[in-house]
Formats: sequence, structure tokens, C-alpha cells
Amino acid sequence: MSLTDRCNLRCNYCMPAEGLDWLPTEETLTDDEVIRLITIGVRDLGITEVRFTGGEPLLRRGLADIVAATHALGVETSLTTNALGLAITAPALAQAGLDRLNASLDTIDPETFAAITRRDRFHDVIAGLEAARAAGLAPLKLNAVLLRGVNDDQAAELLGWAIDHGFDLRFIEQMPLDAQHRWNREEMVTADEIFERLSQAFTLTPHDAPRGSAPAELFDVDGGPATVGIIASVTRPFCGDCDRVRLTADGQIRNCLFAREESDLRALLRSGADDAAIAERWVAAMWGKRAGHGIDDETFLQPDRPMSAIGG
Ligand code: SAM
Ligand code: SF4
Repeated sequence: MSLTDRCNLRCNYCMPAEGLDWLPTEETLTDDEVIRLITIGVRDLGITEVRFTGGEPLLRRGLADIVAATHALGVETSLTTNALGLAITAPALAQAGLDRLNASLDTIDPETFAAITRRDRFHDVIAGLEAARAAGLAPLKLNAVLLRGVNDDQAAELLGWAIDHGFDLRFIEQMPLDAQHRWNREEMVTADEIFERLSQAFTLTPHDAPRGSAPAELFDVDGGPATVGIIASVTRPFCGDCDRVRLTADGQIRNCLFAREESDLRALLRSGADDAAIAERWVAAMWGKRAGHGIDDETFLQPDRPMSAIGG
């Protein structure tokens, strides 16, 4: 569930430095509308975990109330965040019943951080992570994207740091979802390269547990118990096992991260439709899910919405 398309960072694999139009406020779902759709998804359609994302979900004023209402439905709640502001909000989120948290961190070098995110906020992110831990939001997962010539030589350093600090790190292959449409298949750092780079400093062995629908391939680091995940979204897609549905901040169902069609639940909601009609439209949207995202096909077309407006 994406709660906003706005963000206080400008990671260059996600957003342009400036010039991205925001969703108009009147098109954004209200807190009550978000909670109603989540309730339908959980109660009528069997959703068992709700992850809040964005843009930056911590920028959504009603976040703690939305988390509390979702928690009350008896499902797992989680958050994907850049951790800016967590130093203030972590206790309230834990109190609201947030179960898990994924934070994005691509480097532990403040200068590289500023180069990637275009904001000099590295130390605020670290403070946010520590506050999340102090609030009991564990285990904390970190997501990292490697960019060639920027931070791809820092993969092992980042993993060592994550292990020392008790964070579960996962590397994500860079995907064609940037608002600028600059992604280039030849330039992206592949899962195999990530594995090789990490293997120069650590011994990685496949983790002995079923992967299920989780996107990350997990490896034990130096015999465990520490692990590292590699998400090969582009080079080894896991579409066949994907059981996710995405809801944008303006109430559109996307049955895939790379979908080019959306189903408008907001219009239905605001036309006075009852829960059964909304559930029916939602199910119909899921039947349209394609077998795979096809990034490696010549006919692949990047979706119009960038990652920040879809919800990663
Ligand atoms: N702002 C929050 C954050 O950064 O965690 C939540 C939204 S962000 C879009 C969710 C995740 O998508 C982040 O982990 C980010 O690294 C990842 N992401 C963004 N653009 C990406 C891209 N082009 N390829 C791969 N991952 C990307
Ligand atoms: Fe913002 Fe997350 Fe995109 Fe970075 S990855 S610009 S933190 S939405």
C-alpha cells in the first residue's frame, strides 16, 4: 500500500532531482478510504500481510493511525522507509502495532549517500535506524541498490557493517522504474556480480530454508547465522511465485510492479459502491495478472508511473 508519492530524498535510481509532479491532494485516498480498502482486502480477499510504502510513507501524517487500524484486523504490518524521521516516529509506530520494518541504505559512506540521494542526510538515517531498534522494531531489514561506478565497490563493506550492527541486508537489482527512464540493462549491476563482489570478502552458501514467495535468494555468510539476500528481479525473475498486489496512494490496483494497466478502486469507492462491488473489481484486476514482467523482452515497455508513485 503506497501512502504517498512524495519523498524527502531523491535517490537517482528512483526520482529526478526536480520536476516530478505530485498527485493532487483530492486524488489521494483519505485515511478512512485507505483503511476501508485494506479492510476489504483482508476480510474479503484473504490478504495476510500489509506493507506500507511510498514515496516515503513516514511523510503521511495519519501513518500511525492507519497502522493501528490494520493491526486491529489481525494481519502482519510492515513498513518500507528511508528511515528519515524514524528517530521521532519509531515509538508511536511500534505502539500502533507495526511488526516489521525495511529501510533503504545503499552505502555507509556519507558522501556516497549524498551523491545517490542528492541529500546530505546520512546521519539522520542512521539515527532513525537506531531509534527503530530501540523501539523494538526488529528484525530490521536493509535494502540496497548498487550503481556501477558509484557504490558497487562498497557491497562487502556495507554487508560487514550490517552484520556488525545486527541488520539483515538484501541487495536489489536496479529495475527500470526510475522517473527519468535512464535505466540501462548493460549498466545495471547483476545479481551474479553482486554475489561475486561479496564472495571476495565472505563465503556465501545457499541458506537452507524454503524461499516460498519471498523475492530474495538468501545466503549464509561465513557459515551463518548472518545471512544476506540478493533480489534478482531482472536477471532471475520470480514472477511465478509472486503473490503480491499493489495499491497506489490514489487508489489504483496494480497487479504487478511493471503493470501498464491499473484498476481504479478510488472512483468506485467514491461513487458509493458497496464492499462486495469493490472486492469484485479487485479480484477481476488480479485475474489480469500477466505471467511475467518481461523486462528482458525486446517488447518491454517501462510503466508510466515511476517507482516512487507505485510503491516499491
Ligand atoms: N522511500 C522508501 C524507501 O526508499 O525505502 C519506500 C519507497 S522506495 C520506492 C522502496 C524501495 O524501492 C527502496 O528499497 C528502493 O531502494 C527501491 N527502489 C527504488 N527505485 C528502484 C529501482 N529503480 N530499482 C530497484 N529498486 C528500487
Ligand atoms: Fe525516496 Fe525511497 Fe525513491 Fe529514495 S527510493 S527517492 S527514499 S521513494
